[in-house]
Amino acid sequence: MEQGKLFVVSGPSGVGKSTVIADVLKDIPDLYFSVSFTTRPPRPGEKDGVHYHFVDDAEFKRMISDGELLEYAQYVDHYYGTSEKLIDEHLAKGEDVLLDIEVQGAAIVREKRPDAIFVFVMPPSFDDLAERLRERGTDDEKTIEKRLKQAKKECREASKYAYLIVNRTVPQAVSDLEIVIRSERKKAEEEEKEAGRVPVRKDENEEEDDQNAESVDG
Ligand code: 5GP
Repeated sequence: MEQGKLFVVSGPSGVGKSTVIADVLKDIPDLYFSVSFTTRPPRPGEKDGVHYHFVDDAEFKRMISDGELLEYAQYVDHYYGTSEKLIDEHLAKGEDVLLDIEVQGAAIVREKRPDAIFVFVMPPSFDDLAERLRERGTDDEKTIEKRLKQAKKECREASKYAYLIVNRTVPQAVSDLEIVIRSERKKAEEEEKEAGRVPVRKDENEEEDDQNAESVDG
């Protein structure tokens, strides 16, 4: 069976990546979202094991020294990292995996997994981003300033990504990310066909066609 594809989505904090990704996961359920490990405390409404695996500094350091992380980074006072074992289990089953990680981590993945597909989500402007961070109301002014400074640095990395999505409206950004995922899947299927292998995944239209054919036959 062919390995699944690894999609890496980056973009500054507050740009709306989580909302966009949550909607994409509803529309494309056979996409596995990699739940990261972090030392950041949970925000109201965030659940352990769903939004993040929340761990303390000692546990995070243990994971680093035991080589369990594909990548990790320090971002605004806290550590964030991706479990290599978790994502490899899914990729090995032929499932596509999506990572939501910041640019330093993405740079490590670019080195280690050059076949991954890199997508950057931009805010329409920095004023817009500042407004979103303040509206979210989860960080104090000092943290917001740090996140904005970090955002400017991150956006300078955007040209290293294969795809750029500007989050003007959530539905548009969701649609753009879905187009990227579906086109990359289609491309992989074409490559499989050319190599004389049978594609492992049917696209949704083919599945619908099959169902229609069954109902006509039956
Ligand atoms: P937040 O604190 O807003 O949830 O996340 C801060 C930043 O950390 C976001 O840009 C998010 O994409 C990034 N992030 C989340 N998980 C990971 C991870 O596993 N590795 C890295 N490098 N960044 C992550």
